[in-house]
Amino acid sequence: MKRVSWQVAVGTAVGLALALEAVPALLRWLQGRKKRRPRREVLFFPSQVTCTEALLQDSGAAPRRRPPLAASAASAPSEPAVGCPCSLPHGESSLSRLLRALLEAKATLELCLFAFSSPQLGRAVQLLHQRGVRVRVITDCDYMALNGSQIGLLRKAGIQVRHDQDLGYMHHKFAIVDKKLLITGSLNWTTQAIQNNRENVLIMEDEEYVKLFLKEFERIWEEFNPTKYTFFPQKKSQ
Ligand code: ZN
Repeated sequence: MKRVSWQVAVGTAVGLALALEAVPALLRWLQGRKKRRPRREVLFFPSQVTCTEALLQDSGAAPRRRPPLAASAASAPSEPAVGCPCSLPHGESSLSRLLRALLEAKATLELCLFAFSSPQLGRAVQLLHQRGVRVRVITDCDYMALNGSQIGLLRKAGIQVRHDQDLGYMHHKFAIVDKKLLITGSLNWTTQAIQNNRENVLIMEDEEYVKLFLKEFERIWEEFNPTKYTFFPQKKSQ
């Protein structure tokens, strides 16, 4: 009788231990299920002015699953990301959340932007390019040459840029991260808009919308292929 209860006790203990072992796995499974809900985020501007250095330092923003490339490590500034001594607030802001969404890119980034002069967003795009993300930019021919435009710097860094040749503006303001995250809204990527204008930016993982925007990007990308540019306006035949 005594021996049987001893065996029952050991059996119960082993069973309990196994059940406890399974709890973390169960929690991970439940968390995984939660994560699969498509992301929907809205950012409103003007954004509070915050320090974005920690995000834009290569090590601080590097994706965890990928080892940093030697080239990007060499070009990263040497000052530490933590304990930044600048006088700006270091919390979250609409701009920092926009930067965070962009910096999630691991393979591709499509940008279709009317005006692009924000230095922080420019740095984020260059950082992604250094990490080996394939970046393609479509922009407006009139605005790409304005003072402070990031387009020249991006081209210099080796990023592909295409632009229109039309009288009408290439007025889109959207980005697609890894062909699965769409960032779109009224915001021009300029400091003036980020800090002063009332704007909205929608960040979403909705597959259907991503597909439609990607299709339009590819269509414009082909339409703006430099081999199709005309350098001397043809005279209308009368
Ligand atoms: Zn700072």
